[in-house]
Amino acid sequence: MAITKRVDLSDAQVKALSSLVSGRISQNESVLDSHGRDESAFPPVRPSAVVTVHSTDEVSKVLAYCNGEGIPVVAFGVGSSLEGHVLPLFGGISLDLSEMDSIIKISPDDLTVTVQAGVKRMALNKKLSNDGLFFSVDPGADATIGGMTSTGAAGTTTVRYGSMRENVLKLTAVLADGTVIHAGRETRKLSAGYDLTRLIVGSEGTLAIVTEITLRVFGIPEKMAAAVSRFPSLADGVQAAIAIVRSGVAIARCEFLDAQSIKNVNAHDGLTLQEAPTLLFEFHGSPRGVEEDAKVVQEITSEFGGTDFEWTTEEGQRRKLWQARHNAYWAGIAAFPGKRAISTDAAVPLSKLADAVAIAEKILKESPFPHSILGHVADGNFHTFIVTDPTKPEELDAIRELTHKTTSAIIAMGGTCTGEHGIGAGKIDSLLEEAGQSSVAVMKSIKAALDPNGILNPGKIFH
Ligand SMILES: Cc1cc2nc3c(=O)[nH]c(=O)nc-3n(C[C@H](O)[C@H](O)[C@H](O)COP(=O)(O)OP(=O)(O)OC[C@H]3O[C@@H](n4cnc5c(N)ncnc54)[C@H](O)[C@@H]3O)c2cc1C
Repeated sequence: MAITKRVDLSDAQVKALSSLVSGRISQNESVLDSHGRDESAFPPVRPSAVVTVHSTDEVSKVLAYCNGEGIPVVAFGVGSSLEGHVLPLFGGISLDLSEMDSIIKISPDDLTVTVQAGVKRMALNKKLSNDGLFFSVDPGADATIGGMTSTGAAGTTTVRYGSMRENVLKLTAVLADGTVIHAGRETRKLSAGYDLTRLIVGSEGTLAIVTEITLRVFGIPEKMAAAVSRFPSLADGVQAAIAIVRSGVAIARCEFLDAQSIKNVNAHDGLTLQEAPTLLFEFHGSPRGVEEDAKVVQEITSEFGGTDFEWTTEEGQRRKLWQARHNAYWAGIAAFPGKRAISTDAAVPLSKLADAVAIAEKILKESPFPHSILGHVADGNFHTFIVTDPTKPEELDAIRELTHKTTSAIIAMGGTCTGEHGIGAGKIDSLLEEAGQSSVAVMKSIKAALDPNGILNPGKIFH
């Protein structure tokens, strides 16, 4: 049974839900607005109500009720996702998990931490640092661990430490009918039955609501060094990144920014970086180890025309550089006041990266839209960032055509339409193109088994 039209709650339903969550339900206009939009260029859609939950038990009761009443439920972390994920396209409730923000247990000996879904990544890292630990996955937004789990998020350190798919060991989740399940164990290895953990990671709130997560964490390295190198062209920088990965140097971060992105971050973060295609690096290890890594990387970059190689172990400079990289999305928007941005998220096998970036660059150069290219190139993932005027919605069709053209080329070369942002409402057709009818049919049958009434985030991942 699929939900096919908008559901608005009756007074009796609001009252019943209110009684399940000690009155934490709101139909206040500004609360509905803040839960009816995300960072995508999709037009906003308000939920009928916002329900704020504090425990797995409350989530279970709310879901059991909504399942019986056919009320759509869209989980909400901080709404930083980029493909219309949190938009309640069929009304119903937005289930806000942001107040489930307890860090339940830090286990330094096991290098794990267990958190509630609403814990934000920066708060988690602040707390972990007291034990000399850090959680590595670092999307540009201060997202919740529940949201990051549900989108299969990644970040600048994925090349070294992995994405959410590698770092979620165990989770507690609530199925559409209110059943609570525990998937995974706190072990590094697991071969027990179907991998429900990784089924739920990246399922975008369409299969279950995640309430608790156990993550891998790492010891803060003895030394961290940052480095920068400039290149004559985008292609040279990408080729250098590929060669560095192939050389086996243990880089912790390797990010590419084109000249426009550098211009944007200079203006936004008060930096004076040369406006040229640039690779940013980070190395983690012993003082001697990071120095050796930096030397090898400098040699490789120079083979590809890299110049002005600078490196530092000074903590303030390192942080400033990486903060600027993390702000690149906001810097790109700030450069065009009043505009919105559409970000692509292609990932390709490393050997195809230079071709993929060249195709994207050519397609964008032929378009009238301001744009920039940046990405986590060492893991084959890059973003094009296309600026659009929200007062001209007709631009969206033209941009979709451009991104579709790029994505089709990426898929044809064995890549994926999304390395880390997910499908949401924006990449449904691309998923079909990439995975094919039969694979999408399997996904739909899993959805039907776990959520037979289709209440969980309807209209996302597939139609
Ligand atoms: C400036 C900027 C930079 C970004 N950089 C990156 C990046 O480098 N890498 C990257 O991967 N992403 C990036 N993103 C996208 C975004 O931060 C991630 O998708 C993040 O994982 C979303 O987390 P959130 O808490 O905002 O989740 P939300 O946006 O609130 O939700 C995301 C999806 O997960 C579902 N969901 C949320 N919580 C739960 C839960 N507890 N249980 C079940 N489903 C749930 C929602 O229904 C929705 O479908 C960036 C976004 C911005 C704005």
